Amino acid sequence: MKAAVFHKVGDIRYETMDDPKIEQSRDVVLRVTSTAICGSDLHIYDGFLPQLRNEVLGHEFMGIVEEVGKDVTNLKKGDRVVVPFTIACGKCFFCQNHHEMHCENSNPEFYGPDGGVLTEKGGGLFGYSDLYGGYNGGQAQYVRVPYADYGLRHVPEELKDEQVLFLSDIFPTGWSSIEWGELKGGETVAIFGSGPVGLMAQKSAWIQGAGRVIAIDPVNYRLERARRVNKVETLNPHEVDVIEAIRNMTDGRGADLCVDAVGMEAERSILDKAKAVINLEKGTVSVLEQCFQAVRRGGIVSVVGVYGAMFDNFPVGRIFDKGITIKQGQSFVHKNIDHLLDLVVQGKVVLDDIVSHVLPLTEISRAYDIFKKKEDDCTKVILKPF
Ligand code: NAD
Ligand code: ZN
Ligand code: ZN
Repeated sequence: MKAAVFHKVGDIRYETMDDPKIEQSRDVVLRVTSTAICGSDLHIYDGFLPQLRNEVLGHEFMGIVEEVGKDVTNLKKGDRVVVPFTIACGKCFFCQNHHEMHCENSNPEFYGPDGGVLTEKGGGLFGYSDLYGGYNGGQAQYVRVPYADYGLRHVPEELKDEQVLFLSDIFPTGWSSIEWGELKGGETVAIFGSGPVGLMAQKSAWIQGAGRVIAIDPVNYRLERARRVNKVETLNPHEVDVIEAIRNMTDGRGADLCVDAVGMEAERSILDKAKAVINLEKGTVSVLEQCFQAVRRGGIVSVVGVYGAMFDNFPVGRIFDKGITIKQGQSFVHKNIDHLLDLVVQGKVVLDDIVSHVLPLTEISRAYDIFKKKEDDCTKVILKPF
């Protein structure tokens, strides 16, 4: 088959590799009809998450069941399905408690070069380095899907791929980031980052009852899309003092909920500027710190942007003083996906209005390049392997 294979930082190639096979009785092999590039893929592409081995990236994908393992009884060849990005067995302690992102059976302990445990057991992801189980991902013509009987969801025929693909990750992720904010109705929600995840958080904030939604991003075309598709207010940190603006918009108190939908991206641009010095530039405030400043006393900061261990900027004093609650992590896909699919089916949310590019998988190198550099008004790329 053909697949997009990560070789080294900044180097992803379209090439031939062995077809995936059924390895375990609960596997299926999926023929991928649509896949996407996530901001999380950029962490590997940029070398923020180490991956030394060649692997197929991609954890947002859907397709047609091609082959079924002997213990998969709820799926058959030809079924059209969407795939949660978190790999979960459905039977362990975490899966039973709907924390499938920590599934104990999908990712063994991973040891560092000194023999110590680098990542604890739990939490396998498609195409997300050996730290997360070393599974090949879905930026390919075919992919092996473990525990398929638990994870896969049938998709109604009348919906196009573009309408449901984002149930695999970014819609549930945007949804979780707001759900963690425990809105009661009418709250002000400030969402840092208006990339794909931020855009999905904006949609989720309206549905979950926000009274006011403010999107923050330094890239104007992304703010323009946010205003157009999600009817939010926007702030560009290159043009205004974001903290001051948010306080002015909230009677001086700050937002009830601040969402970090940026993650290492902000530090990445700072890194580019500072030529690989990890420390923040003098006078530069990280997005996370901005969330802590922009949230009201007693408010909630929800972090869906991904941080590696080297970015532990933790202002414990401010968090204590303001009594801030912090929630973060990989999102709840399995718990929310059925409800979120219903919202799409009922026309209560539109997801495909964030797509800027639909490209053949052959163009994978260019796709990563424009998504990373934010060229050609790129917001979200969907790739077609066939
Ligand atoms: P993205 O890289 O396209 O979006 C990040 C956005 O942040 C960009 O639009 C960028 O312009 C903006 N940004 C950069 N610096 C900023 C600043 N100082 N202030 C405000 N905005 C700033 O990626 P994405 O696909 O939207 O993903 C966003 C984050 O969410 C990534 O860290 C990704 O890894 C993470 N993610 C987490 C989960 C999860 O389960 N927790 C799932 C998917 C993605
Ligand atoms: Zn993702
Ligand atoms: Zn499990």
